[in-house]
Amino acid sequence: MGIVRLLAIVAIVWFAFRLYRGVRRTRVPRAGVQDRLVRCASCGVHLPLKDARRDSDDAPVCAHHQHR
Ligand SMILES: [Zn+2]
Repeated sequence: MGIVRLLAIVAIVWFAFRLYRGVRRTRVPRAGVQDRLVRCASCGVHLPLKDARRDSDDAPVCAHHQHR
């Protein structure tokens, strides 16, 4: 009975640890991508990656230069 209880505790701890690591792994990169700054290929202004557009060469540009 002691081993069964020990295995159950180990399984719960392992599951909680996996859940905790999974939550951290999905949260951290998402915030990192949104806060990353890129440089406009036309005017050189820095803007968040989520606000950046792509020009015909797939370079990041600001909204003012997206149609070049
Ligand atoms: Zn620009």
